[in-house]
Amino acid sequence: VVTGGLLASLAACAPAGTSGGTGGDAGGTDCNVGIAMPTRSLERWINDGEGLKTKLEGDGCTVDLQYADNKTDQQISQIQNQVAGGAKILVVAAIDGETLGPVLEDATSQGVTVIAYDRLINGTEAVDYYATFDNYKVGTLQGQFIEDQLGLADGAGPFNFEPFAGSPDDNNAGFFFQGAWDVLQPYVESGQLVIPSGKLSATNDDWKSIGILGWGSDDAQAEMDNRLQSFYTGGQKVQVVLSPNDSLALGIEQSLLSAGYAPGADWPIITGQDADKANVQAILADQQSMTVWKDTRALGDRVQSMVQSIVAGEVPETNDDTTYDNGVKVVPSYLLDPQVVVKDDVQSVLIDSGFLKASDVGL
Ligand code: BGC
Repeated sequence: VVTGGLLASLAACAPAGTSGGTGGDAGGTDCNVGIAMPTRSLERWINDGEGLKTKLEGDGCTVDLQYADNKTDQQISQIQNQVAGGAKILVVAAIDGETLGPVLEDATSQGVTVIAYDRLINGTEAVDYYATFDNYKVGTLQGQFIEDQLGLADGAGPFNFEPFAGSPDDNNAGFFFQGAWDVLQPYVESGQLVIPSGKLSATNDDWKSIGILGWGSDDAQAEMDNRLQSFYTGGQKVQVVLSPNDSLALGIEQSLLSAGYAPGADWPIITGQDADKANVQAILADQQSMTVWKDTRALGDRVQSMVQSIVAGEVPETNDDTTYDNGVKVVPSYLLDPQVVVKDDVQSVLIDSGFLKASDVGL
């Protein structure tokens, strides 16, 4: 008798109404999945949501995909509706990592399994698994890029440096910042990196105080305008900007353009993350130095296989069971590897892999 997990999972993945609702032989569950994504305003979440939906539907799962316009209340009611509509597995990229406890506790009390997607959900038992990229490493790669480009390890400097941080309600943002700061803080301390705005210092690393709530490009642009107008008045130039992701980098780049900075001349080093189309174009135009690429297709594959395991009544594979403590429990996690992309890699890494089309970025 063949009782393999995949067969059990495929049987359980039959469309609702034909599976009898009893789940797999091994104590699994129906493949009825609610996907809750934060916003359509950022390219990556559109790719994430639609990519995952297609994969799961290909397995025969019933999938409800929702976007919440970056509004926590909307995300909570979407999740409630998904559970009421029969979802047995929730895949949630939280807008605010602190506020989903009650709605998810309600769901898990009804037997729903919860996978935190990309962003950890804090302060609750009601999160079973976490699939993401190594968020601390994203920051480390950004910090090391700055260190290498400027020759900081060889003693170069001083350089005018402006640090930015992500949304204070996003658990990832602290990891991104910490990864970068652990590399860069010694150079702030030695005076090789000078922060003219004084937004942080060697002894003040309160990243939330500089976090851009909601990750908006416009807010990052306004913050950069403000720093340039207030602290760069005597003809001095900013030489390096730590931007945790591409949406912030885009706003910072607009601000620099308005302030008269010129690519290839006095343009600073700027980091990013996500390989959004507009930012890859900026990289090609020498307006952004790098991006940390996280192949969202690989994250989708990972979550798809977690869902298959859950449906089959098996424990999903994880590779990190120590890092992501949500304040109540350490959530079993699968961490994928992020990768630096610079101008020379656009074709060979982003386009040849099919992540972007040449025409997406004007090539
Ligand atoms: C994600 C990043 C993204 C940011 C803004 C983070 O949680 O990990 O990839 O750039 O949110 O949406």
